[in-house]
Amino acid sequence: MAVNTQNWPRLPVLPDAATDAIVTSGLLPELAYAFGGPFHFLLPDAFTANLRAMQETLSAAGVDGFVHYAKKANKAAVFVEQAAAHGAGIDVASTSELREALGHGVRGEHLVVTGPAKDPALLRLAVTHGALIAVDALDELDAVITSALAGRIRPARILLRVLPPGQPRSRFGMTVTELTTAVQRSVEAGDALRMEGFSFHLSGYALQPRADLAASLVERCLNARVMGLQASRISIGGGLPTSYTDADSWHTFLATQTPAHYHAGKVFTSGDFYPYYSPASGTHALAALLETVPQDGGAPLSQVLTDAGVELLLEPGRALLDQAGATVFRIQGVKDRDGYQLLTVDGTSLSLSEQWFNSEYLPDPRLIPLQPDTPTGTFPASVGAATCLESDMLTWRKIAFGQRPRPGDLLLYPNTAGYQMDSNESPFHDLPLPPKVVIDHTDRPRPRWRLDRHFT
Ligand SMILES: *Cc1c(COP(=O)(O)O)cnc(C)c1O
Repeated sequence: MAVNTQNWPRLPVLPDAATDAIVTSGLLPELAYAFGGPFHFLLPDAFTANLRAMQETLSAAGVDGFVHYAKKANKAAVFVEQAAAHGAGIDVASTSELREALGHGVRGEHLVVTGPAKDPALLRLAVTHGALIAVDALDELDAVITSALAGRIRPARILLRVLPPGQPRSRFGMTVTELTTAVQRSVEAGDALRMEGFSFHLSGYALQPRADLAASLVERCLNARVMGLQASRISIGGGLPTSYTDADSWHTFLATQTPAHYHAGKVFTSGDFYPYYSPASGTHALAALLETVPQDGGAPLSQVLTDAGVELLLEPGRALLDQAGATVFRIQGVKDRDGYQLLTVDGTSLSLSEQWFNSEYLPDPRLIPLQPDTPTGTFPASVGAATCLESDMLTWRKIAFGQRPRPGDLLLYPNTAGYQMDSNESPFHDLPLPPKVVIDHTDRPRPRWRLDRHFT
């Protein structure tokens, strides 16, 4: 039963030749059969291309810079290995992330350790391996100094994390007064410390506040140098936005969607949606940031940095993972409701994490039917999990499918590598976690695959 759904809201993803080729190859139904459940597939070449583009943007702007991939965005090993192989570091926030990064080939000095109130074991490892520690508080600074003195191996390398003046309610970073004390204590710590500069991480995706804060950190570096500190680099954290769709689709979607387009009349606040389109995204956002003139300077940020001889560190997570993977479920059941269908898939929304942030992952999933039909209309359907929770929906929205979904068909959620795959995964109902499969598709007639890591 096709419904009259001429202007049904859709959110098509941007073209992605790699995923198209993998779908066409027929590999996905084989993998679904092999694993007998949902799985994630990873495209390391996309990660590497995103990384290269950022490195090239930095050098094209004449800026001395270094990229640390923020590991929390995806737990897979392959992205760490790609970072290690292509001249990037890793941003870690726990002992196990640090261990993972070292174990997959990243040099200690290429790690930056972020996160608040790092425990003594993490600090000790960080100092031992020469990682850069973004110090978040005065007591933590004392702990770092203690750790460095106790280890007697080498000085602790630190950045001082700044509480963004524009986000005074953030629980991260130090106030202006605390920073003054921290700089003073860094001087007094002498050889126990190497104070390399300052850092921040801003929520939101606006460029101007980033440029303003970056410029003020450069200023702080110049002042700290007068006191005899190295202060030669700043880290601007992550938050380079990713575009999943084009401008027109995004604005049309926002303008046309109503609660009637969601199962059970579910209402989401548009402002809680991730901005699935940004005018400048990924490396273009980085380029735009470098060209942005900070509020109290006449020169663009790139020049502010080069004039001061300050290196720019960045910690992108999501932007490096753009188009670097997708998630595949199998449809187990199809129920007819009034004017739409309810699909039940063989996994849970824990493997599509946006649901856990009062929001929904909006890019349209792609139906991979067992038996392709010629498109005959629009078949809206919402997607539920194979669990006993009313609220465990992968997609509340009634997605506009071009043919009627059937049990056994696959559903591919595109571009899920950034934060969707595993930030909330748990073996709820004793369902196994979806395996991660690394796909190698370049320059070969048929894509080949391997597990991201062997089960332990
Ligand atoms: C989360 C986080 C990042 C990565 O943010 P993205 O939005 O994924 O780029 C970088 N640095 C810090 C300190 C973070 O907490």
